[in-house]
Amino acid sequence: MALEVIFYGTRGSISAPHPDILKYGAHTPCVVIVSGDRSLIIDAGFGIGFYSDHLANKMGEFHILISHFHWDHIQGLNYFGPVHHPKSTNHFYSPFKTEQMQDVMDIYFDGSYGPFNGWEALNSQFAFHRLSHQAVINGFNVSFKALNHTDPCYAYKISDGKHTVVYASDHEAIDNQINRDFIEWAEGCDMLIHDAMYYDNEYETRTGWGHSTFDMACNNARKIKTRTTLLTHHEPLRSDVELDAIERELRQKYPALNVLCAQQEIVYKP
Ligand SMILES: [Zn+2]
Ligand SMILES: [Zn+2]
Repeated sequence: MALEVIFYGTRGSISAPHPDILKYGAHTPCVVIVSGDRSLIIDAGFGIGFYSDHLANKMGEFHILISHFHWDHIQGLNYFGPVHHPKSTNHFYSPFKTEQMQDVMDIYFDGSYGPFNGWEALNSQFAFHRLSHQAVINGFNVSFKALNHTDPCYAYKISDGKHTVVYASDHEAIDNQINRDFIEWAEGCDMLIHDAMYYDNEYETRTGWGHSTFDMACNNARKIKTRTTLLTHHEPLRSDVELDAIERELRQKYPALNVLCAQQEIVYKP
């Protein structure tokens, strides 16, 4: 079975619905990796609610990797249908302590932000899993690596045994040890999903915000020697026209890289 990568959320920071950005997508981060009838979800921005609208069956076992707990990466949880289905179990994975994952759910579902009485009172089951090294999750091999962000944040490497995809959202690819270790760890992956939010001139006033420029992302991709690079966490107001132009520019500048700006609901195959 071929591995497929589908973005249901490509937008960084805030969802930004507007007719000019519908090609690349308006929802905050959520990527689904599929192999046959098995899948893994990465991040739970508003895109995860959009993904669950596509699910024929909202019961069963769901496996969700969380990169970090910034609001744009968890805010969609309540809109993920299986969270409310009595016959579903939602497994959450991250390198963070299980207590920390539970604390986040305690806050999210405490009743301040919706009609909840705590995540334990939801119809579905929640299970929290701390990743300590490599793991097999729903038949996929998964490992992780720390990224440069304003708070702890992790990249994931996912393999079905044939192809390897690396997801590295919310990463500022400056030349430091964390980025060098990340490059070494990701080297040779078939597909790299990399944070790319800014033009160089925008970055000047956003240094240290934990995100990369287009060139920083492409330079990482070059060093990683990946076959396909998908740029994501698009700046909220970046229009389809602008992203089309950026993609054209980057493909000219880096002809050896198969670089694309990630689009919502396109099936990418590594
Ligand atoms: Zn983010
Ligand atoms: Zn973040």
